[in-house]
Amino acid sequence: GINPLNICAISVVALPGARVVPLTPGLDDALFEHDGQMTKREVRALTLSALAPRRGETLWDIGAGSGSIGIEWMLADPSLRAIAIEADPERAARIGRNASAFGVPDLKIAVGTAPAALAELGPPHAIFIGGGGSDPGVLDAAIVALRPGGRLVANAVTLELEALLLAHHTRLGGSLTRIAVARADAVGSMTGWRPSMPITQWVWSM
Ligand code: SAH
Repeated sequence: GINPLNICAISVVALPGARVVPLTPGLDDALFEHDGQMTKREVRALTLSALAPRRGETLWDIGAGSGSIGIEWMLADPSLRAIAIEADPERAARIGRNASAFGVPDLKIAVGTAPAALAELGPPHAIFIGGGGSDPGVLDAAIVALRPGGRLVANAVTLELEALLLAHHTRLGGSLTRIAVARADAVGSMTGWRPSMPITQWVWSM
């Protein structure tokens, strides 16, 4: 018969070449297929923290690029849903490949330009604006669509979008954070700090 006290220990070792994906957001950039237009690891981790997913919620990832934000949102919990909105069809196809590779094939992809592409979508609990934020009507459409208790996070690299975020912060409140990341990199035979462009992040809660 089966001895109920017979405890069996199995140790699982990753197969060579297997993708070992940590549980925390801010995954290695190299795990994503991308063309350089991607929110980098450190900024992604801070962005997911600001988006603050709660069980059962839906995210709009506007200007989704490689899809990294929507994918990490969905990886946080199986109850979470996300819609990646991306204007460039080539990038939209890449989002699909990344979602499959990360085991979140349910990530929805809306190929189109915000704000028009947002019109048909149901209201989200959280919105990330990673692209198109300075296009007319995008920020305002996001603000109007957000559900009560929802979070809006917008990352600006350009001064044009930064100015827009500052104006919204003055009018609506929330928080503004400047994120400047530098990674150590080779300088000849030595090492130096290679800075990324600083990011201004506006976080606003409905
Ligand atoms: N957060 C993304 C990177 C975004 S790069 C990632 O981690 O991969 C910005 C993206 O926004 C680009 O792919 C660009 O095609 C897209 N974009 C710019 N304006 C847009 C708009 N109005 N609607 C939808 N996508 C837009």
